[in-house]
Amino acid sequence: MSNPILYIVVPCYNEEEVLHETNRRLAALLDSLVKDNMIAAGRILYVDDGSRDHTWQLVEEFVAAGSPVKGLKLAHNVGHQQALWAGLEYAAAHADAVVSIDADLQDNVDSIREMVDYFNKGIDIVYGVRRERRTDSFFKKTTAQLFYRLMSNLGGEIVYNHADFRLMSRRAVEALMSYPERNLFLRGMVCSMGYPSAVVYYDREKRFAGESKYPFSKMLSFAVDGITSFSVRPLRYIVLLGLLFILISIVAIIYGFLSYLEGDTIPGWTSLLVSIWFIGGMVTTAIGIIGEYVGKIYKEVKRRPRYFVEKVAGIGKAGEGEPSEKPGR
Ligand code: UDP
Ligand code: MG
Repeated sequence: MSNPILYIVVPCYNEEEVLHETNRRLAALLDSLVKDNMIAAGRILYVDDGSRDHTWQLVEEFVAAGSPVKGLKLAHNVGHQQALWAGLEYAAAHADAVVSIDADLQDNVDSIREMVDYFNKGIDIVYGVRRERRTDSFFKKTTAQLFYRLMSNLGGEIVYNHADFRLMSRRAVEALMSYPERNLFLRGMVCSMGYPSAVVYYDREKRFAGESKYPFSKMLSFAVDGITSFSVRPLRYIVLLGLLFILISIVAIIYGFLSYLEGDTIPGWTSLLVSIWFIGGMVTTAIGIIGEYVGKIYKEVKRRPRYFVEKVAGIGKAGEGEPSEKPGR
């Protein structure tokens, strides 16, 4: 497609420290893309995910200062994935191509140029992939690698070292919007769609300013979400484990019976105690995993709206006629 309209969706949660710089770089990039005739026009769409600092005031300032900026302020903190969804949903109605990027400038803004290049050659999805994780802490690096490995072993389709920095064509975003689930693991969902795709490599930088909004607890729950939204194999493993236990107990019964016949009456107290604990632990874990899925089903059947837009900025001006404040589908 020649000269598309490009939207850059940026979910922000308490990002007042970096937003000035982010906006400066993204606006400069859009400018240069227009100059080089790669896009017809571009907008930066900030989705303020219920921030408690001055993030929203900054977005309003950018709009007032004439930056190519739009803003959606969500009424409540709904988390990165849902916030991104809100932005994608809005952008799909206005753009030919949508790039999603974090606010903290860890992803290389200049890679967007390469992504647009691919898009202009007819590619629907361009994944930004981290070349190496030299700026991540050892802990984050190893846990992330463990996660990717586990995910692919469990059958989840996922691009290695790709987070949520990617370009999607309008039809790809529209396809994504037709997924009804509430448990979002966008990078996995996008991979499962199967449109023509390409990969752009970049070096991930340190966060430009501010702190990570993903503390370990959130990271862990994101990983569990990712696995349980994509794979039911853990449930199958429970069944296999159960079968294995039955096998072991049959062997134990035979052994016990034989020793009884031989008159060997050692009171096996230790082994009994150990196995009770072991089996107890296994059963509890199994129930926990099942509970995880039941919880998911509960969330899905409730069909709650994903988010509410409290305020908008830079939207609804002449010619744009659009519903400004509506709950997410
Ligand atoms: N974010 C969000 N809602 C949240 C948490 C984070 O919109 O509840 C945004 C955040 O502002 C950033 C992106 O998601 O733009 C990624 O978060 P962060 O950089 O803190 O995660 P990390 O890179 O440390 O994994
Ligand atoms: Mg980050």
